Amino acid sequence: MRYYSTRNKDNVVSSMEAIIKGIAEDGGLFVPESFPSLPRLEDIRDLSYKELAKLILGMYFDDYPEEDIEGAVRGAYGDKFGNREPVRLVEKGGVHFLELFHGPTLAFKDMALTILPYLMRSALLNKGVEEEVVVLAATSGDTGKAALEGFRDVPGVNVVVFYPKGGVSQLQRLQMITQRGDNTHVAAIEGNFDDAQKGVKDIFGDGDYNRELKEEGYVLSSANSINIGRLIPQVVYYVYGYLELLRTGRIEAGQEINIVVPTGNFGNILAAYYAKMMGLPLDRLICSSNDNKVLTDFFETGTYDRRRDLLLTSSPSMDILVSSNLERFLFHISGNDHQAVREMMEGLSKEGHFTWSDFSREEIYGEFADENDVSSSIRDLYREEGYVMDPHTAVGYSVYRKYLKETGDQKPAIIASTASPFKFPEKVISSMGEEVPEDLFEGIGMVAKYMNVEIPDQVRELETLPVLHKNICKKEEMRDIVLKLLQEVK
Ligand SMILES: *Cc1c(COP(=O)(O)O)cnc(C)c1O
Repeated sequence: MRYYSTRNKDNVVSSMEAIIKGIAEDGGLFVPESFPSLPRLEDIRDLSYKELAKLILGMYFDDYPEEDIEGAVRGAYGDKFGNREPVRLVEKGGVHFLELFHGPTLAFKDMALTILPYLMRSALLNKGVEEEVVVLAATSGDTGKAALEGFRDVPGVNVVVFYPKGGVSQLQRLQMITQRGDNTHVAAIEGNFDDAQKGVKDIFGDGDYNRELKEEGYVLSSANSINIGRLIPQVVYYVYGYLELLRTGRIEAGQEINIVVPTGNFGNILAAYYAKMMGLPLDRLICSSNDNKVLTDFFETGTYDRRRDLLLTSSPSMDILVSSNLERFLFHISGNDHQAVREMMEGLSKEGHFTWSDFSREEIYGEFADENDVSSSIRDLYREEGYVMDPHTAVGYSVYRKYLKETGDQKPAIIASTASPFKFPEKVISSMGEEVPEDLFEGIGMVAKYMNVEIPDQVRELETLPVLHKNICKKEEMRDIVLKLLQEVK
């Protein structure tokens, strides 16, 4: 399997190279040249998550030695997920929640960021890369922590995470600034997520800066979903979710289902699209946005327009106006037209908008949910079923309710449940109509009561962990701070 850039099909690399680089030099994202086909669903029905992951990763990352893929899967999806199946499918309110938040940092980012470090390390060893890798990540809240935790103490790798100051939840921030590990670095930037993401992308594209780093013995890579090593592991859980419905007799092999995804950078929903292209019987992919509804507008009108203010919502991990992975989707649905993609992306970067005239609404249904929708969804589902959703998942559920009303489509549906309610106690509590206590941990105690579970250790320990990262920088200072942080290690 070869990978090429969405902006230039002559720029061809292997999967190991794509994973090490993270993003192509021309600013494009690496995509597989074709989609492998899944085996007959009846034949893979009873595979465990690890077996399924091995199968799917092996199809895409076929330049890796088999034992490396096996080791990566074993390392990622074992005790980090409590040695249970890493995802759970829970039926509530007539829909199936695919709970993807049972990993070390309580958000779905763990599904890929527990395995990416193994894949990266194996690629570095196999390719004989002598430099140390600097994994740069911009985070809207959850990627940062999951990357820090995933890459912590991995030899030959340093992690630097930028998060928007004031743009993440209290708990997300606490998770990052208490991060342990000599190779982990965190800085708040004075700006929003788009500023952080653009800063990181600019650093990747800065030839002089990359040469300077190389002289110091470093090469850059990415832990954002622009890295194909993030995307492919996410395909696994959609297939697993479908097979779980099959195993439990809730659908028949070949029956179509819908998938609902609370969306920010368009990575998670793109993984569902990949699963569909591999032959998984998925019908509508329902792209759910919060008040930052650029994608809703795009799927409705064909015009993508980022010229608006970024709003801070109760689902901060979706507070994004430039959804990077849409570029991959545009590439695939345009029949791999790299020229068209390049033009659209240039328009977006220079003028702030582009229009895709051939777009068909069939592929994706886009809708959004505002703060009231999110609150009433959290409250209603809790009253009806005693089930608690985090605000991101509640965006998905709200949009699904609108979809049902509009279409009456009764196909079984899976909602990607992307974070644990423990990460966002403020919104959960206010949605229940109760007063949000000042003290974060008192709020967390209330969430535990609603959910009727113990507070997870990863959350409890945050109350006493020392703060280790206090850097704050301006957007223009990101390059300098990376160098400075790296020097601290030496
Ligand atoms: C990252 C994130 C999302 C958005 O996922 P994308 O792949 O960026 O679309 C949704 N919910 C949560 C909790 C997240 O952390």
